[in-house]
Amino acid sequence: MVMPLPGQTQLPWHDLPKNRVFYLGTHKPGWLRQTFNPLFLSRVTLAERKQLPEALGRWALDSGAFSELAAHGRWTMSAEAYADEAERYAREIGKLDWAAPQDWMCEPSMLEKTGKTVAEHQALTVRNFLELRSRARAVHFIPVLQGWSLPEYLQHARDYQAAGVNLYAEPIVGVGSVCRRQHTGEIANIFEGLIAEGFRNLHGFGVKLTGLRSFSRCLKSADSLAWSYTARRHGRMLRKCRHQTCANCLDWALTWRKQVIRDFGS
Ligand SMILES: [Zn+2]
Repeated sequence: MVMPLPGQTQLPWHDLPKNRVFYLGTHKPGWLRQTFNPLFLSRVTLAERKQLPEALGRWALDSGAFSELAAHGRWTMSAEAYADEAERYAREIGKLDWAAPQDWMCEPSMLEKTGKTVAEHQALTVRNFLELRSRARAVHFIPVLQGWSLPEYLQHARDYQAAGVNLYAEPIVGVGSVCRRQHTGEIANIFEGLIAEGFRNLHGFGVKLTGLRSFSRCLKSADSLAWSYTARRHGRMLRKCRHQTCANCLDWALTWRKQVIRDFGS
């Protein structure tokens, strides 16, 4: 028996592009060999593992940018080291769809932490993407748009074009700095602004239910750990479970996923 999800409603995902993918976020690398469903894992959780699991299904790699910049105000890992690590994951785990770059998010709190401007974060993000692409041939690193306002995201898209990256030809373009302000409506405007510019290949990082309801129609793919946050607040989510909380429970995660993506088409 499934406990009701807070505020669960029918999601307006009827006019999304075809072949969309929804990646279930997890802190548990072992799930890679337990489910065929697409997963989203941070390098932070994988780096702790001596032995890597072999993936049953497709997955995508997150660089752990937010925690890195929040902790250090800069990247302490070189692009070379990250590219090598990602290549190892692709080789040993297998079925890696793509990897996020070592991008620089543009939340005001993050700019305060790094002491840099939005334009500097954007330039560093493009530079890192180009370096990763040139180093790691066996891993598909995706470009990520960074900014805070819609004009800044559009400027960043032009910066990529100026650097010789045709974002319209990319299978996936990440949209960063969206995770922590999905309740505001600003993000829906930004995604709609990017759709109006012709982007049909957008990935939403760390999407929550509020975000999915308001802008999922703009996304080609998304990842979410919202199921885990819900369980952290509410404890046990499935009657059959014996643990105190379903925050790391695969059964709950898959139940949540089924509810959320019934119209997503992945
Ligand atoms: Zn459970």
